[in-house]
Amino acid sequence: MIQPPFSEEHEELRASIRGFLERELAPHAQEWEEAEWFPDEVFGKLAGQGLLGLKYPAALGGQGGDYLHEAVLCEELARVGSGGTAAGIGAHVNIATPPIWKFGTEEQQQRYLVPAIGGEKVGALGITEPGAGSDVAALRTAAERVDGGYVLRGEKTYITNGVRADFIVTAARTTPEGGHHGISFFIVERGEGVSAAKLQKLGWRASDTATIAYEEVFVPEQNLLGELHGGFKLIMANFQWERLAMALGAVGAMALAWERTAEFARERQAFGRPLAKHQAIRHRLADLASSAYAARCVTYDALRRFVAGEEPLREVTMAKLLTQRASFELMDACLQIHGGAGYMREYWVERAARDARLGPIGGGSDEIMREILGRVLGL
Ligand SMILES: Cc1cc2nc3c(=O)[nH]c(=O)nc-3n(C[C@H](O)[C@H](O)[C@H](O)COP(=O)(O)OP(=O)(O)OC[C@H]3O[C@@H](n4cnc5c(N)ncnc54)[C@H](O)[C@@H]3O)c2cc1C
Repeated sequence: MIQPPFSEEHEELRASIRGFLERELAPHAQEWEEAEWFPDEVFGKLAGQGLLGLKYPAALGGQGGDYLHEAVLCEELARVGSGGTAAGIGAHVNIATPPIWKFGTEEQQQRYLVPAIGGEKVGALGITEPGAGSDVAALRTAAERVDGGYVLRGEKTYITNGVRADFIVTAARTTPEGGHHGISFFIVERGEGVSAAKLQKLGWRASDTATIAYEEVFVPEQNLLGELHGGFKLIMANFQWERLAMALGAVGAMALAWERTAEFARERQAFGRPLAKHQAIRHRLADLASSAYAARCVTYDALRRFVAGEEPLREVTMAKLLTQRASFELMDACLQIHGGAGYMREYWVERAARDARLGPIGGGSDEIMREILGRVLGL
């Protein structure tokens, strides 16, 4: 294994997070899947452990840690065994609050980031629209300048935490011209003119994914986040971390699935011996262990570079591309090893396989990762 980037202190944090999540969240994975929702109180419980502000400064209520502390959380959240629960928490911690930390005014940080770290307010990031996903520059939600602020009109879709979020960090067009220039961000509070409708989906069912409509929503000018027309910079600023967080989630999920499947294969008997004693199954598990190991190495390498301040676009993009597809393929193979049981909803692996399907789509699809790599590789 390449040298993991974590110190002894990070490993101690890992042990404590794992114990907490195993006690408090993991036992509810199936129940929340059926309910297609995990309770709001989960945010409060995590905040009570300091887990919603690991990388944020103590002055804002955070733990004063760094991205490696957060990386431990990303990996461990995957071991809850509920992609939806990890997604809801991950959206709050990894994509909704970082722009306020990096670009927010003192007043915005006090008003939104501090309660978000405290688990009192839930955040969402609203970029995707019915007509603009991979092609972010095509977004059409518009913010019109009016006395004292802006009026927002438009629609967002596939927004994680979209129904429950108290505030939505929203991208909107602030100039009539299209393209990358002229996008700005606003912190939109749930209130008059903001409505959300929950979407049903293949996986990540415990998470709240929604379409959000903005109908004549007045946003005061102090809720402009970052520079006017400077929104594209804000989007780009967190992409690397978002993709690393997804890679780390896949690494955690693959490890858990492999452990559980190997245990199943040691116990389940067919033709007079455990499945693991059949060469085909043993070889499949060996392949899967290799794939999980490769995913971990690539991800840790990208993480180490990211933490060292290298701006490792190539490595992060490769880690996102490789891990998401590998995770889905590993889950499918684990399901196969479980036979009919793997197809049953009472087994964790059915959920894991559905959850893993999102990885090659969300946070920049496989095709978009390949496009970025094409450019980086000079093709
Ligand atoms: C469960 C879930 C949660 C999400 N959470 C959020 C969230 O919290 N906030 C948010 O803003 N968004 C969120 N998203 C949106 C997500 O980021 C988008 O779905 C993703 O970026 C893809 O955009 P799209 O769905 O519009 O697909 P499209 O962009 O329409 O792409 C359709 C297909 O075409 C491919 N494609 C597109 N462009 C090219 C190209 N140039 N070359 C080759 N192939 C191409 C894509 O890879 C894809 O396979 C979420 C999505 C899901 C499913």
